[in-house]
Amino acid sequence: MKWLKRLLFAFLFLLLVGGIIFFFFAGKIVDKQMNQSTLTELPKISEKAQKLHQTLNIADWHSDNLLWDRNILKRSKHGHVDLPKLLEGNVTLQVFDAVIKTPRGQNYNSNSDGTDNITLLAMGNRWHPKTWSSLCERAVYQSELLHKAEKKSNGQLKIVRTRSDLQNFLNARKSNNNQVAGMLSIEGLHALEGKLENVERLYNEGYRMYGLVHFFDNEVGGSSAGTKKGGLTDFGKQVIKKMEEKKILIDLAHASPKLIREVMKIATRPVVVSHTGVKGTHNSKRNLSDAELKMIANKGGMIGIGFWAGAVGSIQPSAIAKAMRYTANLVGIDHVCLGSDFDGSVKTYFNAAQLVVLTEALLKEGFTETEIHKIMGQNQIDFLLKYLPD
Ligand SMILES: [Zn+2]
Repeated sequence: MKWLKRLLFAFLFLLLVGGIIFFFFAGKIVDKQMNQSTLTELPKISEKAQKLHQTLNIADWHSDNLLWDRNILKRSKHGHVDLPKLLEGNVTLQVFDAVIKTPRGQNYNSNSDGTDNITLLAMGNRWHPKTWSSLCERAVYQSELLHKAEKKSNGQLKIVRTRSDLQNFLNARKSNNNQVAGMLSIEGLHALEGKLENVERLYNEGYRMYGLVHFFDNEVGGSSAGTKKGGLTDFGKQVIKKMEEKKILIDLAHASPKLIREVMKIATRPVVVSHTGVKGTHNSKRNLSDAELKMIANKGGMIGIGFWAGAVGSIQPSAIAKAMRYTANLVGIDHVCLGSDFDGSVKTYFNAAQLVVLTEALLKEGFTETEIHKIMGQNQIDFLLKYLPD
């Protein structure tokens, strides 16, 4: 029976090694592959861009940083966002969103809700077991991650929930710019698990913006990459009503054209499209048409332009600047914002520490300094000061 003992021992050993790899390395390996950027160091930047960049209030509508097995307070070699990078990039406010569930083989054409990458990632990243089976718990957990980071940040990271939180932060940052504000957002209301009461539960966890859908159609409405790409469901209508009561911002990124139209018909507050491109410079199913841009801007909405090739055609800063120019020409400069999708399983040219590269590209594109102030963050900050809850 000696051979049986040996076999059992070998099996247990392999299980242990496999477990260690899975729970401590797998998530990190995926992260490294998924969130790359090109620049290893800053290229030569004009003095004008450098000076201007230091005077900006920079804000970004979308980062998936919370999904990854990283300490946000420490600089990591890979990835786009962490506290040191945000400080180095002179960022005032970063929206952190919770990714809830993504389909295997995710694409911009058609995805069902039948598969899920995030279960394995949640296990590999050693998230609480509650998150392995509950989509709502995944949102709760990611909020806790950011709140824990805030506590350990020695005041360098401040989560804003209200207008006065943001105003106080802006006042404090005037005398000490070694701090960043964070705001919580959700990517896909399958996080509600079909329960209206979870709108309030997630609000209480600190979330202030909800993206209605992600890569597949859910209980609320149709995704631009779903199988049916439908409009707003009856449950979705109740959700919108409740969100507006609570002053939770609506994010229409990833929404199907029908969903966008139907939400715009009933929304009484301006909406956000947190990370997108525009069909006018890159014709993709994922991007907004001219009619959609006008519909959203006419009601005071914000358009966050993405930094990845799927949004603007290439990762070059000039491509981002061109999409911003197109949008500004069509609907006005006051609606154009940053929607990086940093750490959103995309490759970018620069990371958060290197945002001055974009300031330079906007100057080259011919935007004035006032316009650059607006695009790089002032539009978003003014919007939040107006539309966050009291
Ligand atoms: Zn997204």
